[in-house]
Amino acid sequence: MMTPNWILQRASLTPDRIAISWEEQQWTFREMAERSMDIAKKMRGTGLQEGNRVALLTTGGPETVFLIHGGLLAGFELVMLNSRLTAAELAYQIEDSEAVAVFTDDSLLDRAPDSTPVSRLLCGKAEDFKPAELWHEDRTLTIMYTSGTTGFPKGVRQTAGNHLSSAAASAFNMGLQDGDVWLCAMPLFHISGFSILSRSLIYGMTVRLQSKFDAEASAREIAEGSVTTMSAVSAQLVRVLDILEGRKLRADGRFRQILAGGGPVPSPYIRRAEALGIQILQTYGMTETSSQTATLAAEDALRKTGSSGKPLFFNRIRIEGAEKPGDEGEILISGPHVTPGYVGRFSDSPAQVDGWLHTGDIGKLDDEGFLYVLDRRSDLIISGGENIYPAEIEQVLVGHPDVAEAGVAGVEDKHWGHVPAAFVVVRKAIAAEELEAFCRERLAPYKVPKYYRFVEELPRNASNKLLRRELRAAFEIEK
Ligand code: ATP
Ligand code: MG
Repeated sequence: MMTPNWILQRASLTPDRIAISWEEQQWTFREMAERSMDIAKKMRGTGLQEGNRVALLTTGGPETVFLIHGGLLAGFELVMLNSRLTAAELAYQIEDSEAVAVFTDDSLLDRAPDSTPVSRLLCGKAEDFKPAELWHEDRTLTIMYTSGTTGFPKGVRQTAGNHLSSAAASAFNMGLQDGDVWLCAMPLFHISGFSILSRSLIYGMTVRLQSKFDAEASAREIAEGSVTTMSAVSAQLVRVLDILEGRKLRADGRFRQILAGGGPVPSPYIRRAEALGIQILQTYGMTETSSQTATLAAEDALRKTGSSGKPLFFNRIRIEGAEKPGDEGEILISGPHVTPGYVGRFSDSPAQVDGWLHTGDIGKLDDEGFLYVLDRRSDLIISGGENIYPAEIEQVLVGHPDVAEAGVAGVEDKHWGHVPAAFVVVRKAIAAEELEAFCRERLAPYKVPKYYRFVEELPRNASNKLLRRELRAAFEIEK
């Protein structure tokens, strides 16, 4: 299938509608296309050709959007680099992806010394060229690296067809209303942020952009109703809830929902949000699926708390080896949103086997077909023959009022093989015995952590994901 060039098509369909709103400024779809086209010409003026693979290292904000759209208009495959990576991690991804050029915000130049800062790009000469009128569904628009939570980050190819089907399926589930404004506080180099940009082009929807997540501003906009939807991970969600509760504010009636992904959202957060008039749509997605695969529909949000919902319209989910509802196993995914494959060192590992992506996550489907994501296969703790999922214990721990964050990992044990150990960041000092008693009331005895460590912070990667393998290592060293 071919689609019209999304940027030009949108600018021709609804030229005067607001595309991007940021701080006090706004750009219409026509203005955005013009700005992006100017950048595309400068990019091509450097001698780069259609089909080249080019990396972007950016900090966010409207200039980043124009640079991304400029790169797409120029016909490049865009390697999206995470600005929080270390210099060595960046060098790895630039080399692994075989990007022929790197464009970077001036402020990040020291991170990627061989890159072209945007200011220099914009001073360069422009080449007049005609952007492709049609985009083929197989065209790779972006290459994003996975977070590297379980091992080396993998460079994932995301095609126009992947992004388009993902955006369409999202709207079929969440609905689309006149005047919808999606608050984007997620990084644009990550699929969570980038997918908001593609939805904006495909739906003709306004994006309210934050250069960096701002909890105060987010809470204010939700209370005022100047935005209608937001994407968030649970760490952001809880900060917004704290602020709203602290100020005794509620969500305005125009605000519809928060799409919460990247990891499990603890059920206490979902209930707190409901009390403030905010619907939380828990979603399950990954880099390899260009955002959501399954999302809990609004009508099921309360009845099926803890579930990531049903697959979106085009998608299918299977649990490997499951014979009946409730059986646990690896989650397999099929659909037009699944990547055709990896680049670089993982280019020989197939992303799909017989049309199914093997996610490395363990889950189950209930008798109504709702997905429950249990945890990563690599983090599963087997204790005396029982399966224990660290995420379940972490959820219980963060339900304690004095616990700010919790991480659980399996550590060796002479008797049981492995047992859970808890690492907690507390808001105020609390005894290990109290936490243990708290867990005993809420978990089967074999799931109650045997060790409690109070730490200043938890090890996280550049996507802010908990690194349980580092918790395991820290425990070993300490022992
Ligand atoms: P790597 O593949 O390099 O180890 P990663 O899997 O963390 O890194 P991402 O693609 O950013 O990289 O994250 C996708 C993963 O996030 C999923 O495979 C899953 O483990 C986790 N995840 C996403 N949504 C949910 C959810 N609703 N519940 C539980 N886990 C989730
Ligand atoms: Mg992964």
